[in-house]
Amino acid sequence: MSLWLQQSAPFTAATTLPERTDVAIIGGGIAGIATALHLAQAGVEVTVLEQRTVASRASGRNDGQLLLGLGEHYHRIHGQFGPDKARLLWDFLRDNHAALRASLAAHGVDCGLRQDGGLRLAETPHEWTELQTAAALLAAEGKPHRLVPADELARWLPAGRGFHGALHLVGEAIVQPVQMVRGLAQAASKAGAHIVEGAGVAAIDGDAGAFSLRLQDGQRLAASIVVHCTSTLARELDPSGLLSRTVFPFRGQIVATDPLPAAIVQQFPTYAMSSNFCYEYFRMANDRFVIGGKRWSVPGEQLGILDDDGSHPQITANLLAYVHEHFPVLQGTAFPHLWTGIMAGTPDGLPLVGALPGAPGTFALLAFNGYGLSFAFLAGRCLAEMIVDGQGQHPALPLFAPRRLLPA
Ligand SMILES: Cc1cc2nc3c(=O)[nH]c(=O)nc-3n(C[C@H](O)[C@H](O)[C@H](O)COP(=O)(O)OP(=O)(O)OC[C@H]3O[C@@H](n4cnc5c(N)ncnc54)[C@H](O)[C@@H]3O)c2cc1C
Repeated sequence: MSLWLQQSAPFTAATTLPERTDVAIIGGGIAGIATALHLAQAGVEVTVLEQRTVASRASGRNDGQLLLGLGEHYHRIHGQFGPDKARLLWDFLRDNHAALRASLAAHGVDCGLRQDGGLRLAETPHEWTELQTAAALLAAEGKPHRLVPADELARWLPAGRGFHGALHLVGEAIVQPVQMVRGLAQAASKAGAHIVEGAGVAAIDGDAGAFSLRLQDGQRLAASIVVHCTSTLARELDPSGLLSRTVFPFRGQIVATDPLPAAIVQQFPTYAMSSNFCYEYFRMANDRFVIGGKRWSVPGEQLGILDDDGSHPQITANLLAYVHEHFPVLQGTAFPHLWTGIMAGTPDGLPLVGALPGAPGTFALLAFNGYGLSFAFLAGRCLAEMIVDGQGQHPALPLFAPRRLLPA
């Protein structure tokens, strides 16, 4: 079990299954909870069906970093999508964080939010040149950041060794993800959402306006609209077949220490941190050091895996080797906490937000390609707008339309 799940109180407002609902959301991770919160606030009758407990899968097993730019260095996003789409993507994540922070404050959700920014560290001299290219683009577009040359790094990250410079991104943050999602779930519940735990969906019968969802225990829920927020865990429930054809699983792995002595803690800042193009990511959490990544370092890169009970011993060894190389102050420190989580990918690296083509009354909000904690709050609001008003407001939304993944 992840450190966050161990530390967090259960979600306490879970209800029993109603007979019918306007909108049935399948999945109680950040995607399902954010959508439920916005729908309930708009006065829609909404029910979340969660197979296990709220935030028990990826949403409770991540590194708790609220990132900008999909975790990629900005010039690479420019290169992949072109300047206009890159700006839209950046703005979407920036707007997500502003909306999320406002909602956490409005609902009094205490989830250890630290808004000290993010530090992207260069693993090699080549990555340092890429960070400088990214910084030049950020500067040209007026996006707040700071380049940190290697000889200044000791002030920013005293424990760090062997990095070649860094880019500090104002606007990134860290949270305790389970407390965040369960806090938002309490707010959704207060706004009128039914959130039912232990409610795995086995099948969906019927059509738009008259769906009948059959649960794994045989109970049924009637619904007018169905929203798939199941990441890559229940693709077979999508009648259009699009999710099975386009969304794929991959597994991430994290290790963490117990609380460290004060003399060590003060050598680590509370930034969202990463290196090697965000493949390795780390942060402090209540005096513990938490680090994930290295999935690229084993054959198969953990693609196609749905099991988040197990872990890969070579990844653990490689994460510890990284720690010892870059943070020698942690030599001899035990990492007793180890967990994995399943993420969902798409061929173009962007999520699905919107109506599933060929399946009237059916929507999807999933496949965040490893950045859902940073993405799903605003995406949930946009999906709620699509359901209530027929279209979402944010100008980036066409980038995430599920129909883009249909064969040409
Ligand atoms: C190791 C790791 C590190 C990460 N670090 C970060 C990070 O620092 N920053 C960031 O932004 N993102 C990070 N992510 C990604 C982020 O955690 C995910 O993108 C996000 O949590 C996905 O949320 P979700 O709601 O789509 O999926 P999930 O949280 O997986 O929720 C899907 C839910 O659907 C439920 N479900 C499945 N099948 C059914 C069914 N048949 N019936 C009912 N319910 C069902 C599941 O039980 C689950 O609760 C990380 C992920 C991992 C694994």
